[in-house]
Amino acid sequence: MRVDIIPCLSDNYAYVLIDDAAQECAVVDASEEGPLSTVLARVGLPLTAILSTHHHFDHVGANEALLAAHPRAVVYGHRSDVGRLPGLSRPLEDGARFTFGTCEVRAHHVPGHTLGALAYEVRTQYGARWLFTGDTLFLAGCGRLFEGTAAQMFASLRKLAALGDDVLVACGHEYTLSNLRFAAHVEPGNEMITERLAEESARRQRGEPTVPAPLSYEKATNPFLRAPDVSTFAARRAEKDGFRG
Ligand SMILES: [Zn+2]
Repeated sequence: MRVDIIPCLSDNYAYVLIDDAAQECAVVDASEEGPLSTVLARVGLPLTAILSTHHHFDHVGANEALLAAHPRAVVYGHRSDVGRLPGLSRPLEDGARFTFGTCEVRAHHVPGHTLGALAYEVRTQYGARWLFTGDTLFLAGCGRLFEGTAAQMFASLRKLAALGDDVLVACGHEYTLSNLRFAAHVEPGNEMITERLAEESARRQRGEPTVPAPLSYEKATNPFLRAPDVSTFAARRAEKDGFRG
């Protein structure tokens, strides 16, 4: 499986998963129709799945348009989002497993940013793993608490952190530099954060996305994954809401 990273709207990422062996493709977070339609036309394979991480418009705004053009596509989302996630045809429980082409997918319910948030763990036929985290786990950060509690988000991040160091984290927004500036503020002595900020800044200056990154990087530099307890997590999340780095 190959993954195309598609910048959408102002700072969103959608992902096109291309399974050459099975001759089909999928979209994670159909954010914006224009860029996705262009990529899907270039790829030229049938779109069989839309994996929606949560119901926010900047993650599902193109679901209906893509469905109109690709009526066979199955739209996945959490069962609690039935009625508010456009086109949802396969509601999922926590831990649900399904296949896309030659890949195995596992859905992890990760409430916090929204109550129906899902992360999708996609394992390729060769054993590589991607983790599509939407607005739950960002690179060096995490999503705001719009619907869930700090305790829920903390537990959700713990759950994702347990998935193994080598899994590649692919999130829903390019917020990495501002997140790393906050991380440096929280842990001024953490050299990994300083180094990562320099690396990711250079990447952005070259016009490249910072996604994906191995989960091991997050464990070393993400102040929300590194919070030792829920009260520390809650305090950091509240401070980040007002942080201008
Ligand atoms: Zn969101």
